[in-house]
Amino acid sequence: MKDKLYRLVPVFLQELMISLFNYQAYKVRYGKKYKHYRKLFLKNRTLTRADLVNIQAERFHSLLNFSRAYSPYYKDLPNVGISHISQLPVLKKEDLRSHSSEIVTLDKKEGVISKTGGTTGTSLEIIYTRDNMQERFAMLDDFRSRFGYELGKKTAWFSGKALLTERDIKNKQFWKTDRWHKVRYYSTFHIHPQFLDHYVKDLIRYSPEYLVGFPSSILDIAKFGLSKGYEFPADKVKAIFPTAETVTLEMREIIEKFFKTKMYNQYASSEGAPFIFECSEGHLHLELQSGVFEVLEEDNRPSRSGKLVVTSFTTEGTPLIRYDIGDSIILEDESLYCSCGNENPMVKEILGRIDDFVYSPENGKINLGNVSNTLKDTQGIKNFQVVQNSLDTIDIYFSVDQEQFTEQIKSVFLKNWRDRVGQGMKINLYITDELAVEKSGKFRMVKNNIKDLL
Ligand SMILES: [Zn+2]
Repeated sequence: MKDKLYRLVPVFLQELMISLFNYQAYKVRYGKKYKHYRKLFLKNRTLTRADLVNIQAERFHSLLNFSRAYSPYYKDLPNVGISHISQLPVLKKEDLRSHSSEIVTLDKKEGVISKTGGTTGTSLEIIYTRDNMQERFAMLDDFRSRFGYELGKKTAWFSGKALLTERDIKNKQFWKTDRWHKVRYYSTFHIHPQFLDHYVKDLIRYSPEYLVGFPSSILDIAKFGLSKGYEFPADKVKAIFPTAETVTLEMREIIEKFFKTKMYNQYASSEGAPFIFECSEGHLHLELQSGVFEVLEEDNRPSRSGKLVVTSFTTEGTPLIRYDIGDSIILEDESLYCSCGNENPMVKEILGRIDDFVYSPENGKINLGNVSNTLKDTQGIKNFQVVQNSLDTIDIYFSVDQEQFTEQIKSVFLKNWRDRVGQGMKINLYITDELAVEKSGKFRMVKNNIKDLL
């Protein structure tokens, strides 16, 4: 909600604007093909492993044909079957960023653009077709519906949207409600010890059936609730669906204990990666209908544990073929089958992004999801790293593509940071050619050197 108008009008009108905005967005997501896909995925829940593998091979074949025909970048892609996928080149994040205009297969206006901070501080733009968008939401909703969720059920959402005004903060109202779709959006920019009491009390009052969003924010609320002895009513929340961040065992235990319910994890990024879904038995399944998952060593040899390289069937505007997404996973033994009935292969663990955050004395913790979203609408920033050495100052180092970067983009980036850390902090911006990597060779988007003081 970036409009000036939104900031000026009374709360009930802001909430009406949110409903209308969602109505528009939902028209694209839940269009004609959505229902078709929902039926298909419902029916396909009982497919055998062999059926799933066949569907995957077929879709891989059509993706390659499609990419050769419509993507200038991929016009000479060798024609190989899925068993010879290793003959195709791996696409790095920086390749995707710098070649995105050659990779795209359609006129941007025909597609749905997703601007993303990715997961490792690189600014990217992915284009979906409308059909892709509907298929992705149908797949996601099919997963959530296994636990009873549908759009319109009372839901508390913890997203990276900046929805609050100064007035809301003064009034200690850290949420906005879309009454039409029954979603209450809680701000994840104000997860501060002095505000958490208001969050907990309102969640108990609102009594949602589902919680969706950044698990680190939900965790802080749960921790606070437990420490203050709040009793969350039992049998209210039917399931919690975390998004965007890694969920550790410890996080899960605390969240499930406070909200007295189960959490069901999923892996998919705004970059359009194929899906990994958790089942009722607590196992993670690769969804073979959504793409190809390869796990590779640093030198690109296949492995059970290593970097995840994905080929996605649902980003036809920007085909992702053997895309090195920057996460690591450990696969389960492929010969094992889950007792839940889903025959998709299982994942032992997703070793996602490192748990780190920026701390603002004014707004509290800014989690990795919100940090990575500061790249929204900032073409030309190749990647960045934020370092915090004192409570009131952050240093942001970033590298730029001189052809795209402008002073105006710099001010958008700065504003995105202000929305998250508040007005009080000092923000130093440094343009640099080379960003520091860890001794391990890994790049960290956030380096918080004052964590032990908090
Ligand atoms: Zn299962």
